[in-house]
Parts: sequence; structure tokens; C-alpha cells
Amino acid sequence: MDIQLFNTLTRKKEVFAPIKKGEVGLYCCGPTVYNYAHIGNLRAYLFEDVLVRMFKYNQFKITHVMNITDVGHLTSDADEGEDKMLKGAKREGKTVYEIADHYTKAFFNDTEQLNILHPNVTPKATEHIKQMIVLVKRLEENGLTYVAGGNVYFDTSKFPKYGELARLKLDELKEGARVDKDPNKKNPTDFVLWFTKSKFTDQEMKWDSPWGTGYPGWHIECSAMSMEYLGEQFDIHCGGIDHIPVHHTNEIAQSEGATGKKWVNIWMHNEFLVDEKGKMAKSAGAFLTLSVLKEKGYDPLVYRYFTLGTSYRKPLMLSYDALDGAKNAFENLKKKIIELQKESSEAKKGSEKKFEQYSKDFLAAINDDLNTPKALALLWDVLKDNELKSETKYYLVLDFDRVLGFGLDKVKEEKIDIPDEIKAIAEKRSEARKKKDWGASDQLRDELRKKGWVIEDTKEGYELKKG
Ligand code: AMP
Ligand code: ZN
Repeated sequence: MDIQLFNTLTRKKEVFAPIKKGEVGLYCCGPTVYNYAHIGNLRAYLFEDVLVRMFKYNQFKITHVMNITDVGHLTSDADEGEDKMLKGAKREGKTVYEIADHYTKAFFNDTEQLNILHPNVTPKATEHIKQMIVLVKRLEENGLTYVAGGNVYFDTSKFPKYGELARLKLDELKEGARVDKDPNKKNPTDFVLWFTKSKFTDQEMKWDSPWGTGYPGWHIECSAMSMEYLGEQFDIHCGGIDHIPVHHTNEIAQSEGATGKKWVNIWMHNEFLVDEKGKMAKSAGAFLTLSVLKEKGYDPLVYRYFTLGTSYRKPLMLSYDALDGAKNAFENLKKKIIELQKESSEAKKGSEKKFEQYSKDFLAAINDDLNTPKALALLWDVLKDNELKSETKYYLVLDFDRVLGFGLDKVKEEKIDIPDEIKAIAEKRSEARKKKDWGASDQLRDELRKKGWVIEDTKEGYELKKG
């Protein structure tokens, strides 16, 4: 079945045509490791994870590369503001290397809890300076750069396709329109490839280069590292929509300016997680991390479930009500899985006609530009379908979960130790209910609650949970 993906370059859904049959080269812009990721950032990595899983489900061999930015990213993507890594180091009284190490580990700890598959390659910018210098040299040889104030700039006026991705109207872009006040720039859209005259004299990370000791601009790292691991042309590049006008626009200019050929076939961008104050951003100060969500009682997989309920191309509004909805649904899903496990000794492919139909519909949904809301709806349709055998349901659910990634194969009934005293009260309540003594039954329920237990009546009798 065809895979259709929305390509930001053409603003259309396109049938995916791999460069190499059966293979996909994917590059995703990774975190700048100067702080914890907020759950908005994590939405981006969740979307990319579903993309990776969709390709695996379709039996593609995927090479997924995600960089770690540990140098060069200023607080404005367009070369202005503070150095993010230095900002983190100052805030915590540590070296930039310690900051990078700490937040890289924290990042992967988050992604693991969200069941995000680890990319095949996670190159660090600081370990690829040589490749970046080689690329800047190629751009220099192609006459696309100039040196001003000691820094090396990309001259966007020499690259006719500049701004195509973002559909930038360059003639309408006034000086200063990009919050850019660098007097060295010939054009407002020009950007730094290599800094020597840093605004930051205390910059810890510096390397020798043909243009003097300094450090790379942020954009060049993605061009250099993607080409290192995926070649000069590859299939898909992802990131959040904020990267369209500056970062990805500059990445294209650098890469195609160096090689003279088309770089990436499909550009995919996720929309933002927003709250009533607007988009969630680290620079805005207060932001929600996965740990804070956990402290508030939300399993990381509840957040995964929440994000999958909306297309990655639509803004996602965060609220505690919406998270509670996802929490309830996810709890119910786990309960249903446990019921299925009890009813069926194994997950078996069904021979029912409906089995084929569900399988087809699911594939059609995920291959339609990752239609996760539809895929989730199908999961529930399967679970509620009384015409399917339990083992068929179980098979379909685990199969869908290869893409949805909730780890449903690991769902287990929590075995809890119930103290004898609690069991005795529960039994007494059961007796009272049999005698239709509702007063006593309610009293015993309250007694249990005071002791930290919740009793729920079920078809088989009752269930005790810690409350
Ligand atoms: P950063 O670490 O700031 O470079 O961001 C990492 C990824 O998260 C990038 O792909 C961003 O585009 C994306 N991102 C940033 N903020 C949000 C948000 N509020 N919602 C969704 N994605 C975001
Ligand atoms: Zn990037």
C-alpha cells in the first residue's frame, strides 16, 4: 500500500518514493542540551517516533539520525541573543560539557519513558567540527560566503532558491525584520557559518579553523552531520514548524549550495503543543517537563496517548482536563488488555473477514500521513467488537501497537498484596451486600477507604485497589 506524506516543500501530500528501494534515510533535528526538554519538544519526538514505526511496520529498513546540539545554538535561531549552552552553564555553575552530558542523559531518559525508539545514530555537534569546517570550505569554494567582522557568513543573495521551503518573499523582508541587528550582514537573511569574533568572550568551546579559532553556527551542524550519516541526498527531514523559516531554510541553502544538487526529498513538520498562553517554549521560562507531569500523576504513556489523539499537523491544546481524558482512556485500554489476556491464552491471526478489514484499515490510516486519531479509533473499534474472537482482538491490538507504541505487550495485572485485615473487611461487605444490607455495605466501604483501599464491584465479585 502506498505511503502518503505531507511535504512542506510542496505543501501537498505525496506518495513516498524512496531513493533506495525498501530503505529510508531520516534526519530529525535533535535537542539543544542546555535544559530539560519540555513536553512540547517531546511532541516533536513522539511524532517522529510514529513516523519511524510506520516505516518499520511497512517493512522498510530505516536509518534514523538525530543530532545532539551541544554547541553553537543562540537563543534566537537567527544568530542573535545568548549562547544557549553557556546560558545553561552559568545558571548551574558547571562547565558546558557537564551541562551537555547531564541534559543529554535526561533527554534520553524522557524519550525512553515515552517508548520512543532510540535513533540509529545520535551524533554530537562537538564531535563533528571537522565535517562542518569541510562543508564551510566547500561553500567558500563555491563563492557563497564572505567574511565580515571576523565571522564567516553565508551570502543568501548568491543562492537563488533561498527561502523556497518557507515561501519567503525576500523582497518584502525588510532589514531588521528578523530581529537581526548584526551590522556585518550584507542581507538580513544571511547567517553565520563560523564564529570567530564571538559576542561571548568567555566561550568555552573553541576550535581552530581556516578562519581563526572559534565555533560553528548552529545550522551548519545539521547539514554536516546528516550528510555524514545519510549521504548527500536523503529521503526525509523532520522538525517542528518553528524551524521552517530560519533553521531548515538555512540548512537547505548550505547543503544544496555545497553539493549543487537537491538535498532532501520530503520535509515534515509537526505543529506546536499550545496552552492558553500560546506555544510552549523554553525561553518563556516556566514550562512543563515529563517529570512534572509524572509528579502530577500522569504516566508518560498517557502523554503519548494524548498526543496521538490529534494529527501531528494540527496544534494540540494542552489542558489538565484533556490530560485527564487521556488518562482515563489509557487506563481503560490497559484494563481491556488485561481482560483479553485472561480470555485468550495467545494472540492469534484471525480468519474472520473483519480481521482482514481491520488490518487494512489500520494500514491505510497510518500510511495516510500518520493518521493517528483514526488509528486509535480503530484500536477501540477492535476492542469493542463482539464479533471478533478474543485471541484475534489480542493479535490486532498488539499488531497496531507496533506503530502506536504503548507497550501493550508489557501490560500486566498489578499483583498487590492485600493485608488479611483488609480482605476480611471486604468479605464482610460482600456478605452484607448478599443480604442487601446496603447500610452496612456502605459503612464497610468507608472503613476500607479510611484504611487507604478502594473497593469496586465487578461481575465476579469485587476488586480491591490502593486508593
Ligand atoms: P529545541 O530543543 O528547542 O531545538 O526543540 C526541539 C524540537 O521541539 C524542535 O523540533 C522544535 O521545533 C520542537 N518544538 C519546540 N517547541 C515545541 C512545541 N511547543 N510544540 C511542539 N514542538 C516543539
Ligand atoms: Zn537541525
